[in-house]
Amino acid sequence: MDLMQNFIVNNDCYQYNVKRADSRYVKFQTEGPKGLMLHSVGCAQPSAAVFQKLWNVSGKEVAVHAVIDANHSYIIQCLPWNYRGWHAGGSANNTHIGVEMCESSYIKYSTGGKFTVLDREKAQQHCRTAYNAAVELFAYLCKEYSLSPSTICSHKEGHAKGIASSHGDPEHYWRGLGMSYTMDGFRADVQKALDKLNQPAPAPVPAPVTTPAPAAPASDMITDIHNAPAWAQPALRELLDGGYINGGTDAETDPDDINMTLDTIKSILVAKRYIDAKIAELKK
Ligand SMILES: [Zn+2]
Repeated sequence: MDLMQNFIVNNDCYQYNVKRADSRYVKFQTEGPKGLMLHSVGCAQPSAAVFQKLWNVSGKEVAVHAVIDANHSYIIQCLPWNYRGWHAGGSANNTHIGVEMCESSYIKYSTGGKFTVLDREKAQQHCRTAYNAAVELFAYLCKEYSLSPSTICSHKEGHAKGIASSHGDPEHYWRGLGMSYTMDGFRADVQKALDKLNQPAPAPVPAPVTTPAPAAPASDMITDIHNAPAWAQPALRELLDGGYINGGTDAETDPDDINMTLDTIKSILVAKRYIDAKIAELKK
C-alpha cells in the first residue's frame, strides 16, 4: 500500500479538529472511528494530488480522511484517522472515516451523476486501480481500529441508512463503467485482505540441524600411580616420594595420587631424564 500523509492543514475541518471545536470533534478524537465510508469523487479527475490541493484551503466544506489516485494507486491521507471529517453530509461524519476514490478521466459527466464513457478499457483500468487500493486501505483501517468489514458502507448506503446526504457514489460509477463491483463484494474483498493481514507471521525457517562435534576422547587422566604404565611407575615413585609432585593439590595427601594426563606424565619424565643425565654428567 502506497500511503503518504499530506494533511490539509488549511482546511477549516482540520482547524476545527485542532481546536476541538465542539463535543463531536472531541468524541471522534477520543473514541476513534466506528465505521468506514467509501466514496468516489463524482468527477472525471484521476489525480489524488489535485484533490489534496483543492481541499487544502480555507472555506471548503469538504474534508475526507484520504483520497486514492486512480492512475497510480497511491493514497494521500488528508486528515489524521482520528479527526472528525466532513465527507458524508450527515451524522456519519461523527462516526465514520471517509475515503474518496478518484474517477477516470476517460468519462464525461452530464447531469445527475450520469456520465458517458470515452474509453471503456482505460476507464475500467482506472476504476480497478482505485478499487484495489481501497480494499488494501480499508483492510488496514479495519485492523488498525479493530473494525469489522461489516461496518463499511458506501455514501449511497449511508444515505439509505439516514446517516449521509443523497449521493449515489461509488456504486453509480461502477455501474456506469459496467464493472461487476458491489459493496457486498467490496466488504468481502476487504475481509479477505484483512484475513491475510491477520495471518500469523510464517514460522521462522528452522536452523539447519548440525551434527554435534564428536565428544572429545575420554581424558587419559592417571589418578593413581598404580594406573600409570609400568615404564613410568619407577620415575613417578621417585618424584612422589621426593615431594616433587604431590598428585594434585596440597590438600591431597595420598602418596599414590597422580592426577595427571599421560601426556603430562610423559613431559615430566622427559624433563626428569634430561636432568638426571645432566647430573650424571656433572658427577663424572
Ligand atoms: Zn460521497
